[in-house]
Amino acid sequence: MDYQTHEHDVLVIGAGGAGLRAAIEASAAGVSVGLVCKSLLGKAHTVMAEGGIAAALANVDDRDNWKVHFADTMRGGQYVNNWRMAELHAKEAPDRVRELEAWGAVFDRTKDGRILQRNFGGHRYPRLAHVGDRTGLELIRTLQDHGIHQGIDVHMECTIIRLLKDGDRVVGAFGYERERGRFKLFKARAVILATGGIGRAYKITSNSWEYTGDGHTLAYDAGAELVDMEFVQFHPTGMIWPPSVQGILVTEAVRGEGGVLKNKEGRRFMFDEIPDNYRAQTADNEEEGWRYTQGDKAARRPPELLTRDHVSRCIVREIKAGRGSPHGGVFLDISWIKARVPNGADHIKKKLPSMYHQFKQLADIDITQEPMEVGPTTHYIMGGVRVDADTQMSTVPGLFAAGECAAGINGANRLGGNSLSDIIVFGKRAGEYAAKYAKAQTSTAVDTPQADEAARRALQPFERSTSGEGPYQVQYALQEMMQDLVGIVRNENEMQRALDGLAPLRDRANRVGVGGHREYNPGWHAALDLHNLLTVSEAITRSALERRESRGGHFRDDYPTKDARFGTINFVVRKGRDGQMDVFSVAIPEMPETLKQVIKDME
Ligand SMILES: Cc1cc2nc3c(=O)[nH]c(=O)nc-3n(C[C@H](O)[C@H](O)[C@H](O)COP(=O)(O)OP(=O)(O)OC[C@H]3O[C@@H](n4cnc5c(N)ncnc54)[C@H](O)[C@@H]3O)c2cc1C
Repeated sequence: MDYQTHEHDVLVIGAGGAGLRAAIEASAAGVSVGLVCKSLLGKAHTVMAEGGIAAALANVDDRDNWKVHFADTMRGGQYVNNWRMAELHAKEAPDRVRELEAWGAVFDRTKDGRILQRNFGGHRYPRLAHVGDRTGLELIRTLQDHGIHQGIDVHMECTIIRLLKDGDRVVGAFGYERERGRFKLFKARAVILATGGIGRAYKITSNSWEYTGDGHTLAYDAGAELVDMEFVQFHPTGMIWPPSVQGILVTEAVRGEGGVLKNKEGRRFMFDEIPDNYRAQTADNEEEGWRYTQGDKAARRPPELLTRDHVSRCIVREIKAGRGSPHGGVFLDISWIKARVPNGADHIKKKLPSMYHQFKQLADIDITQEPMEVGPTTHYIMGGVRVDADTQMSTVPGLFAAGECAAGINGANRLGGNSLSDIIVFGKRAGEYAAKYAKAQTSTAVDTPQADEAARRALQPFERSTSGEGPYQVQYALQEMMQDLVGIVRNENEMQRALDGLAPLRDRANRVGVGGHREYNPGWHAALDLHNLLTVSEAITRSALERRESRGGHFRDDYPTKDARFGTINFVVRKGRDGQMDVFSVAIPEMPETLKQVIKDME
């Protein structure tokens, strides 16, 4: 078949922070760059990020530095992180943030004009550079403004459905235009995946429709390895009412600014259970916690700012014990700070403008006057494409990955704010090394039969037309199953049921039918997403079954404690020779003594 064909040295799939930063870097290295995204430029997930970017700039607390950030990230990830990535991230994040400022990002300011930083869960000192609670918007705006001057070719509303290979090497990608439904073929000397997360595999999620695990699946189908897929982050605070907005994020910045969690008895239940490894860093009482949020360096963090995995489980515990709010969550109250700060209502609106509008418009709640109702929501995946820490190349030559679809830096749990810094640190690295790799390649031979096969499969739902089941029924059934059986609290029995349930769902997905034509047809797009959602769901479930312990975002009520034997390994998923999914463990390389010492010093 003939396809509209484009050729670039480096093809970047995804135009969030990671993709844009990679494209800028590759372009600056003098290679031609194509950037593909599923929706319009500027609408990537990154734009939704609220609370801020973690970087040890030490503008608000001069005790901060890369070592503290590194130790916080490792402790948060419960030491199964790729320590080299955590090291590079902590060391390079400040430069990447200052670079954004130089490119025009207008951050909130300290009184003496430096970038302001706020408190966030698991970060020892105020570390999150921010723009109110609209940080992602500023990040995307800045990268786009900078990027458009680099001569990058942007292909918007184009969804990649297959990577193309020449032998072992990735040499291009194949996809369709959402608007007209026409196929497009991209030849490239190197491909960077920057496709974001998988949230749409679950029923309750803060993620938008685009996050169907495409990059994870494209890599897996091309023979790459995925790692840490059992570690899914359930953010403690999503909206729960009204049902139409269930799952929408309520930023951790609310707690960073002094918001407190209470059950229906009015009790601050987070004081009831403090994990041992955070006890020394956590406030003894409410007064100390409040002073911490107001910048008192002698105070320790309130327990609401413990890591997300722990806060989510405490919320679930309250709800299960019958101490939840009327709509099945708990209360998050920022309005109480009016008693402590002058012009309290205006202060809240200034610090949390999006949250104020979100609750006012979607739930008719004025957060300056009354508490919000919140509950956990699927937010982020720590697992993803297994990459080399320095270069971001996957286990398949020519295929790179960065941002949320790559893995390693976060281990078992991501600290808030560490994703925006991850995407700019490793986006830059992926762009740099993909450009280097591309320059060293001579040919880009793409064999069209691979594309023909992908096109034929993509069009099958039309052949079944309305005689097949609709794709949304299959999607809902999958989301429901993952939410119920592979969610915040897991066990062998339920996960085995999920695994058994995936095979019939895949059969149903292979038989879905779609009516109408190829021009802007969301039903068709949903049908094509199913393969990705099913693949990541299987990877999550198989890895979670293997990890017979509780760690970070992965909590099992049949193995409720951490087991040292699992503290030295990661689980990896790869397509076996028979086409089935293989799961195996790999040993985490020994950490150098210097880094071990950093962790010890910060205890
Ligand atoms: C509501 C919300 C608030 C958040 N707040 C914060 C915060 O304050 N701080 C923080 O650090 N993190 C935050 N996060 C997490 C953070 O925003 C994301 O993890 C991060 O932005 C991911 O960036 P990325 O570049 O990897 O991918 P994304 O920004 O998710 O971009 C993915 C890109 O890939 C494209 N794409 C996907 N599939 C395909 C395909 N098949 N073909 C072509 N293109 C494709 C998409 O169109 C998009 O352009 C938040 C997340 C949410 C949902």
